[in-house]
Formats: sequence, structure tokens, C-alpha cells
Amino acid sequence: MAVETSCDETSAAVVKNGNEVLSNLIASQIETHKVFGGVVPEVASRKHVESITLMLEEAVEQAGISLEKLSAIAVTEGPGLVGALLVGIMAAKSLAFAIDKPLIGTHHIAGHIYANRLVQEISYPCIALVVSGGHTELALMEREGSFVLIGQTRDDAVGEAYDKVARALGFPYPGGPHVDKLAMESQEVEELPRAWLEPDSYDFSFSGLKSAVLNAVNQHRMRGEEGFEPSIARGFQESVIEVLVEKAIRAVKSTDAVQLLLCGGVAANRGLRSALTERCEREGISLLIPPFSYCTDNAAMIGAAAYLKWKQGEFSSLELKAEPSLSLESWSVAAK
Ligand code: ATP
Ligand code: MG
Ligand code: FE
Repeated sequence: MAVETSCDETSAAVVKNGNEVLSNLIASQIETHKVFGGVVPEVASRKHVESITLMLEEAVEQAGISLEKLSAIAVTEGPGLVGALLVGIMAAKSLAFAIDKPLIGTHHIAGHIYANRLVQEISYPCIALVVSGGHTELALMEREGSFVLIGQTRDDAVGEAYDKVARALGFPYPGGPHVDKLAMESQEVEELPRAWLEPDSYDFSFSGLKSAVLNAVNQHRMRGEEGFEPSIARGFQESVIEVLVEKAIRAVKSTDAVQLLLCGGVAANRGLRSALTERCEREGISLLIPPFSYCTDNAAMIGAAAYLKWKQGEFSSLELKAEPSLSLESWSVAAK
């Protein structure tokens, strides 16, 4: 059983052998948070409390198994909103205690990465490009469950930049999918900057691009222009994609990686998926991208990552705490 409550999705899943999804239920709180233009932590915690028990019950029911058949209870311990994480952790602890099964505290981003294994076996060493609401990272994975961060964002995460640009263009939260759609439909491209940083750096920066978008929007509005939104969406998306693809490919080529994994909510972006697919085909690089439903937050991916710890017998105690800024590297699974 896997439980995920790190942000604004309450999710419970039953996963077999870390790659067979028997059930994966997701209660999204998007409609609740939309009116505030973003996730309100206090509200998120309360909504998790309302639905967590039902989600756990439904997950075992849909999986068609009894509670005794579960071999472990996995739960996201971090990173995420502390109050939101706590709800999942308390529920998972209670269940683990009640049925006397091991508890496995799991890293949310390891979950996003291992969403790829729900579809296909991963080859190592590999590079993971993580693009989500709170993270933009390049991780080198020499073996299963080991993570070394070789690059990360110095300011905004790419999903965060999408959401802010979307808001400036008049779209509701979460805006990523709206910007994606507008960009794909646009014939025109507004010229916007690319943040490459130092030539050998794998780090990212999206706050300059975000500011450039906000300035462009203001200028168009001051000139009384209309209908400029699609070309800005397209220009923004092209800038983001070019930098992400270029750095990810360079990371694969300059390490011993044999595969590239894309993951996180922004991996649902159609422009990014197709640009990366095309580039990897051209370069002869093996690429894995999860299906749309496993890109944004879900508990099945947490089950996939927790399986690595389960295989090694690395369990958590019932003292497990929420770790709002848990590092990915520190969660690495011990070598066999
Ligand atoms: P993290 O995983 O870093 O803790 P999170 O869990 O809030 O953050 P995810 O659920 O992984 O983030 O992803 C949500 C983000 O993905 C939002 O910023 C959303 O706008 C973005 N997103 C979803 N679909 C698309 C899309 N098609 N194009 C661009 N962005 C998208
Ligand atoms: Mg979310
Ligand atoms: Fe996430």
C-alpha cells in the first residue's frame, strides 16, 4: 500500500513488486485551491484529513485484496507541505501498526522518478530529468535507488514558472496545461531569453524568463494590444524546452548514462515530451517518459520507489517524521 499527501492530491495505491499497479486512487483538491490562485497549506491539510480514510479503503477494495495481504505500507515523508505530509504519515503509521506490517518512508521525487518503472524496467546508469511544481533537477543514478544531484534550479522550479506565467496570461491554477495548449496552437513566437548559466553548469534558472514574460505582457497591455497571449506562451515554452533538453542530453553524453528518464508534473507537457523524444531518437539515446496519468502526483509512484527499500529490508520506525525539505541523495538505497 502506498500513500501520497505531500501537496494537493490525496492518493492511495496498491502496487505489486514495485511495478504492477493494482489500484491508484487520486482525490485532487484543485477545485478547492483554484479560488485562491494556488495551494493553501492549511486548507490542503484539512482536505487530506477528510478523504484519506476513504482513499485507503477504496484502494484495497479496487485492488481486490484483503488488508492482511499487504506486505508493507509506504508513505511520502518529504519533501512537501509539512501539514499535508503529516496526514498521510499518521494514516500510514496507524495502518502499519494495526496490521503489523513494516512502514516505509518514501521520497516524493524518488517516486516521480520511479513512476517510469511502472511501465518499463529502467537501465543503469541513467540520468533523470525531474521537472515538477517544486523541483527542476538532473540526477545521476549509477544503480537502482542511488541518486546524485548534478544540477538543480537556482530559483524557480519549471512548474512554478509555468503557473506564474499562466496567471499573467489570465489562466487559473494550475496553469501549466493551459500554457502548453496555447503554445502548441500558436503560429507566432515571441522572442524570449534563455538562461544557460555557466557553460559547464547543469543548473537551471527560470526567474529571469518569468520576469521577461511579465514585462512583455505589461508592454503589450500598455500599447493596448490584444491576442498576444499565444505567441508569449509559445516563446516561453520554447525557451524552457530548449534549455531542459540541451542540458539533459549533455548530462547523458558526458556521463556513462545509457538512458534518460523524464518525470514530474511538467513531464505531462506535450511540447517537452515531443522535443525530447525527437532529440533522443536523433542522438540514439534510450528515453523513458511515464504516461500522462503517472506524471503528476499519485501514490502508485510512491509504491514503485518504496519497493527498492522493501527489497533491501530498509524500513522506517513508527517514529517516522514529516521532512518538508528531505534531500533526494540522503534517501538513496544502500548498495547490495
Ligand atoms: P513537487 O513534485 O516538486 O513536490 P508538485 O508535486 O506540486 O511539486 P507535480 O504534481 O509533480 O508538482 O506537478 C505539478 C506541476 O506540473 C504544476 O506546476 C503544473 O502546472 C505542471 N504541469 C502539469 N501539466 C503540465 C503541462 N502539460 N505543461 C506544463 N506544466 C504542467
Ligand atoms: Mg499537485
Ligand atoms: Fe510532485
